[in-house]
Amino acid sequence: MPLVSMRQLLDEAAKGGYGVGAFNVNNMEQIQAIMEAARETKSPVIVQASRGARSYSQDRFLYHLMLAATELYPETPMALHQDHGNSVETCKSAIAMGFTSVMMDGSLMPDGKTPSTFEYNVKATREIVEAAHAKGVTVEGEIGVLGGIEDGHGAGLDGLSHLTDPDQAAEFVRLTGVDALAIAIGTSHGAYKFTKKPTGETLKMDRLIEIHKRLPNTHLVMHGSSSVPKELQDIINQYGGKLKPTWGVPVEEIQLGIKNGVRKVNVDTDCRLAITGAIRKVFAEKPEEFDPRSYLKPAREAMKKVVALRMTQFGQAGHAGDYTPLPLEEMAKRYREHAAA
Ligand SMILES: [Zn+2]
Repeated sequence: MPLVSMRQLLDEAAKGGYGVGAFNVNNMEQIQAIMEAARETKSPVIVQASRGARSYSQDRFLYHLMLAATELYPETPMALHQDHGNSVETCKSAIAMGFTSVMMDGSLMPDGKTPSTFEYNVKATREIVEAAHAKGVTVEGEIGVLGGIEDGHGAGLDGLSHLTDPDQAAEFVRLTGVDALAIAIGTSHGAYKFTKKPTGETLKMDRLIEIHKRLPNTHLVMHGSSSVPKELQDIINQYGGKLKPTWGVPVEEIQLGIKNGVRKVNVDTDCRLAITGAIRKVFAEKPEEFDPRSYLKPAREAMKKVVALRMTQFGQAGHAGDYTPLPLEEMAKRYREHAAA
């Protein structure tokens, strides 16, 4: 099955009332872990690459690994998404390479650090929507500023100082025509999200519900939505790691989001924790091992387990066979017709 439009994947998720996990990849083992989890749970899936991932893998390695995934897992509808495109150029290069979805993160300036103006955000995002939709490619925008820093991207704020304003979100969607919208409701990137278990109050779920009411037809995206489970932290620390106590986004809160318009849920930290814990365990228990496969295999298996669990919790499990993926040309035609209507 060729790579699928993320818009179609999210439209189907909205119809079915479920969310779809978007998992970050940098290498073969991470892609294999996600595809195996998707096969086991019969899930459609979003695989995403940050700018950091694209440079780490020299772009083409990652892209061809993704093509291999489409050949080896023909039953799995899969969208390939550019995570946090920092500029028009980054997004256009992803579209040119064959990504089926891009995030134009105009909430920050192209340095990926400085919060931008609403006008800048609208202009950059609108330009990408025009370029992307002409090719049937999906666009995610962002309004408000997320907390934390990931892959060198982010304003390093606490996540609460620039929450998404519902009126501004509605205006942004109207002016840009984005397919999906990342909102800031108190989540942040990285492992250190909260210093104690967050409540519905810390996470501003009311704000999310308000935004969904204003934009019932826009697919909402939750960034920084790893749950950072204690079991995964404990494995790392048990085998010589030094993670400080931390809390992520509880799965129940994500599920509440999914009931209120969240269709894409970004998860990266949980996968990183699973991989690192498994590798540390092998190093500690079998210090005589030096074949990389001896620790990469359990690492891959540990990531697969956490991805499969999230797929089940988000509700995407069992939905891989629900629909026939539309070619991107057909998506482009639909965008044209919609614009003309
Ligand atoms: Zn993000």
